[in-house]
Amino acid sequence: MHEMALCEGLLQSLEDQAQSQGFAKVHAVWLEIGALATVEPDALRFNFDIVMHGTLADSATLEIAEVDGHAWCMQCSTNVPVKRHGEGCPQCGSYQLQILDGQQIRIKQLEVA
Ligand SMILES: [Zn+2]
Repeated sequence: MHEMALCEGLLQSLEDQAQSQGFAKVHAVWLEIGALATVEPDALRFNFDIVMHGTLADSATLEIAEVDGHAWCMQCSTNVPVKRHGEGCPQCGSYQLQILDGQQIRIKQLEVA
């Protein structure tokens, strides 16, 4: 369970942006989460509310967009989508995959005041 630490990092990032961009309140946060980031969206939402309580993002809405990861399949010599850890290549079933992305947790957009 690292969702709590994640939310604390997120808050830090919001505070930094508030300072550099001069906003005082965050109304909504859009997060992009890679399919391989091993994050539970429900746990993330739960911790988000706790961590943001009493901060600039108090009662902010959390919108989560889950996106597929990508890997390089050595059998097909092609870039294939990966939806979760331990999954083989969707084209040939090979497990010789080199993960390219899908582990990211990124702020896509903020609604601020
Ligand atoms: Zn393949």
